[in-house]
Amino acid sequence: MANSAADRKIKQVIAIMSGKGGVGKSLVTGLLAVSLRRQGQRVGVLDGDITGPSIARMFGTKGQPTKSPNGGIEPLVSKGGIKIMSMNMFLERESDPVVWRGPMVSSAIKQFYSDVDWGELDYLLVDLPPGTSDAPMTVMQALPVDGVVIVSSPQMLATMIVMKCINMVRQLKGLIVGVVENMAYFETPNGERYEIFGPSNGTELVSMTGAPLLGHLPIDPSLTTLCDSGRVEEYYAEAYEELAGNFVNTLKI
Ligand code: ADP
Repeated sequence: MANSAADRKIKQVIAIMSGKGGVGKSLVTGLLAVSLRRQGQRVGVLDGDITGPSIARMFGTKGQPTKSPNGGIEPLVSKGGIKIMSMNMFLERESDPVVWRGPMVSSAIKQFYSDVDWGELDYLLVDLPPGTSDAPMTVMQALPVDGVVIVSSPQMLATMIVMKCINMVRQLKGLIVGVVENMAYFETPNGERYEIFGPSNGTELVSMTGAPLLGHLPIDPSLTTLCDSGRVEEYYAEAYEELAGNFVNTLKI
């Protein structure tokens, strides 16, 4: 299925990965898409977390995808113009579980790439489930992934587990384009910074991957409310604009 960049209308397919759940991979994917869109890029988000999807909820997309004129599936489009495809859009109720084994999950991910009418995109961000199981492997092997962004947090455990996913990307001959350290600090209204989850290990991540640190992101409690109410596009923070700028520049090199 993997085709060359020249055959594709999607310029760059980038997988967002983490070794462990809860480090904010989906949130970083969503907010990176928002900042890229603000900068005028054409962006799509493929929610590769088939059994635990959160992207549709974050963007508040409603309704089911429809058939496109050429027989494909139309992605839903967010208020800000981001194209989104997520398993949740096909469920009767958002809380319905997707009780599928690995091969079915892999097949859904492939269809989300090849059967969806993404149109012309500058970036398709693929939000992966955590870990190194079937779904991340499918994406790396069956989709034309141009690069991987690894999301981690300052906890040691997150770094240890993130090493597993770095090694997986290497084994599958993927390219790590950058690392993002999420939940790196909390800043008070007076500008005091607290490293709640411990000191930054950004430098360590850079030396482990040989890839640049694209973002060093704060903990912001207001994000939870915005994400839960489908209003992630209303969020603005300098750290995410910097992340998007670094991302674009790194991919240009
Ligand atoms: P993952 O995709 O790695 O499992 P999520 O993106 O779902 O993690 O994030 C887990 C939870 O933590 C979500 O409720 C999310 O809104 C919250 N979260 C993630 N990053 C931050 C942050 N920087 N500040 C505040 N809340 C965050």
